[in-house]
Amino acid sequence: MLHCARHDKSGVKAKPNRTINEQANDALARVREVYAELAARPIERSCTRLNECCRFKLTGRTPFLTKGEALVAANAVRASGRRQLPIAADGACPLLNQDTGTCMIYAERPFGCRTHFCAAAGGPYARREVADLIQQLEKIDADLGGNGASALPHAVGEALKQLR
Ligand code: SF4
Repeated sequence: MLHCARHDKSGVKAKPNRTINEQANDALARVREVYAELAARPIERSCTRLNECCRFKLTGRTPFLTKGEALVAANAVRASGRRQLPIAADGACPLLNQDTGTCMIYAERPFGCRTHFCAAAGGPYARREVADLIQQLEKIDADLGGNGASALPHAVGEALKQLR
């Protein structure tokens, strides 16, 4: 959606509001910076993609995403040619490919999927190890007019509607 350029009473062209897509692109870049900073931290984990943590019913845990993270994930879903979230099977993450057992958006997976490792992979990060990065994600969420993190299926579903 594009906003029209407007003029103030003096006839000076006013700076148009930023479009939804501009806001989204800015958020994508900022969230990816957070992910890159996390990856650069010397915290040893050894995820072998057992995908146990992607089975929410099994673990009793569902990742919560801030709005920026949801936009990154939704953008990756769109890039795969989908406009809607696939139906989740067996209480698993809707982004878990049931045929291959792999994450459909692994390179763009949310922060929680990058920090909440299963015991076999070394366990979750301590909050103090990543508290500053969580604050950055919360700031991006606030800048986007978000209301804080929500469960992955809802967060990504809403972000997909926004990217339409
Ligand atoms: S987004 Fe990917 S890594 Fe995260 S829970 Fe879903 S399938 Fe697993």
